[in-house]
Amino acid sequence: DIGVAAQSPWFEIGRPDLPPLAPDAHKYSRGLVHALAGKMPGAIALAASAAARAGAGYVRVSTSRAIDHLPAAVVQTDTAALTDPRIGCLLVGSGMGDLPQVLTLALTSHAPKVIDADALGYVGEPDRLKGQDAIVTPHEGEFVKLFGNLAGSKPERALAAAALSGAVVVYKGPDTLVASPDGRLGFAPPAQAWLASAGTGDVLAGIIAALRARGLPAFEAACAGVWLHGRAAELAGSGMIADDLLAAIRQVQ
Ligand code: AMP
Ligand code: MG
Repeated sequence: DIGVAAQSPWFEIGRPDLPPLAPDAHKYSRGLVHALAGKMPGAIALAASAAARAGAGYVRVSTSRAIDHLPAAVVQTDTAALTDPRIGCLLVGSGMGDLPQVLTLALTSHAPKVIDADALGYVGEPDRLKGQDAIVTPHEGEFVKLFGNLAGSKPERALAAAALSGAVVVYKGPDTLVASPDGRLGFAPPAQAWLASAGTGDVLAGIIAALRARGLPAFEAACAGVWLHGRAAELAGSGMIADDLLAAIRQVQ
């Protein structure tokens, strides 16, 4: 729909102007990210570590499956802490696998959330996300699962998806876009194709969750996360894998 496109402020995402850490910061004021894990501990470890590297003061993971060596996060085997009012952002979907009950649980929380990966396939109707203060981070296949085959160009589909769900939509790929329900649309600067590998999306979700927990509004957190992720990939260089992004995140902030 050209009308929507013509009215929307479209822009290229630039280096984010992140607020400096307060000198009297403590771990909770820097932001608590709570990740709900599922079947794939590798993915949740990447996402949780990325959240810590991107500035979350506290990262907690609820899991029923043991996770080896995850020093960046406090790992617990129950979900009791999910009602903790200090949670700045919930992260659900990374490493979830086919456990739709994990998403159902996340949607009972009032905390802002980042919804990624398999969780996107279990949302059902996009308007189930209305009022959820959610950022969704689908790649092409996940986008179609959640939003169906929307008409139009990728920017138009991204904006339509944001309007349908009320969520900020990070529509990933070689040409990542960030769409807001209010019509704003950010284009990510080109990123290197080395990002097309398993685990890099989990790192992105963790970065965005940290920025959201740190207090950035959803659209700003999503745009900043996409920029930092692309820049970290550039620094990590040719042959990089998802793990290498973790070390690079601290150099790009
Ligand atoms: P996922 O699809 O969840 O594994 O996430 C992959 C990540 O890599 C996303 O941030 C994509 O935007 C990014 N990505 C995938 N393919 C490319 C590509 N060809 N060039 C640049 N970035 C890409
Ligand atoms: Mg993914």
